[in-house]
Parts: sequence; structure tokens; C-alpha cells
Amino acid sequence: MDLGAARGKGGDVARETEEARFLDTVQSQRDMRCVITDSQAIDVVSPLLMGNDIPHTTFSIVMANYLSGGALSTFVDGLEGLSQMASGERPKKVLISEACNHDRITSTCDDIGLVQLPKVLERLVPGVEFQHTFGRDDEFLSDDLSKEYGLVLHCGGCMLSPQQMRARIDVMESLGVPLTNYGVLLSYAKSAAALNEVIKPYDLELPSSML
Ligand code: SF4
Repeated sequence: MDLGAARGKGGDVARETEEARFLDTVQSQRDMRCVITDSQAIDVVSPLLMGNDIPHTTFSIVMANYLSGGALSTFVDGLEGLSQMASGERPKKVLISEACNHDRITSTCDDIGLVQLPKVLERLVPGVEFQHTFGRDDEFLSDDLSKEYGLVLHCGGCMLSPQQMRARIDVMESLGVPLTNYGVLLSYAKSAAALNEVIKPYDLELPSSML
């Protein structure tokens, strides 16, 4: 899809032409069961597909589920940590955890874990505090998670095996700490309704209180 045209940069006629071309392309696919799109395009793709009853999801949702060995429902349930922090039910502090030590050049770009996600979380839960961990399991597991944190926000974990990611999820579940992941939180922050659509192919839905 030409996202510029679909967002109306060339005017209404160009937008309608692009929408029609996109829908024609999708609907002409034989035996098509589901569209997988970039989450950056979800604002224009999702309304079109929803309006035509076409199931769809995003690469980041597919990867969140795949890299965690099928734990997408845990990440969706973990979003409830946001309202629990806002209501004072859980500590207003988020552990942002990345599974590797990649370069973080915050002077020239907005690093997702250090800059972008804290901004999103501050908007969703004003006054929230942050702690970061990068890398090894012992660092990740060393904090007293259940008492200190209202939410653990984990990266996509592309440097972990599904077994390693599963081990981290098991720790969170046994401690009862809400856990979500970068892609799920960013989708939710962009549009709860759109997130609700892209998890439907996995037979999941957000509770109505979150929509
Ligand atoms: S998603 Fe991959 S590259 Fe990014 S922080 Fe996590 S392990 Fe590192």
C-alpha cells in the first residue's frame, strides 16, 4: 500500500483509489485466510480490512507469539498491569527488560527501550517510574520483581531461544507480575481497537474495559 496516499496526502481521490486498489488486491487472493501487515501501517490497513470482514494481524504480533513459544495470551493479559498501576493496586514502576546489549545511541535516535517506550508509558500511566535490565538471565532475574514492579515490559527477545523466553515468562507467572512485550504494548498504545483485531486470529480478545 502507498501509505502516503492512503493517509490522504494526495487528496481524497488518491486516497480512495489507493484503498480500492489495496482491497482489490487482497480480495483477489484465492483461499486467503489472514493478512499480515506492518504495525506501522495498521492505522490505515485495519479499518479497511475490518470493514470487509478480513482477518488480519501484524508482523510484531506474529513474532511476539512465535519467539515466546506461543505466549501471546500472557502478553495480552499483562496489559492489565497498566490499569492496576493507575489504580494503585500495583506499584507504579515498570521493569523494561531487553535480552541483549545492542548499541543505544540516544543522542541521534530515539532508542525504543530508553526513550520511546518510557514516553508511551508515561502517557498511559502518568508518574510511572522505570528500571531497565539488559542482557543476561541473572541480571533479569535478580530483582525482587513481585514487590517492586507493577509491570514487566520485555523486548521481542530475538536473541533468546523460545525456551529461554519461556523460562522468563514462567518466572513472571509464578510471581504474579503482569508481563507484556514491546510490540503488544505499542499496538495497544496506538489503538486498542486495532490491537483487538490483530489478536483475533489467535482467538484472543481484549476485555471490554480496555476498549
Ligand atoms: S528484540 Fe532482539 S535486538 Fe531487540 S533488545 Fe530484544 S534481543 Fe536485543
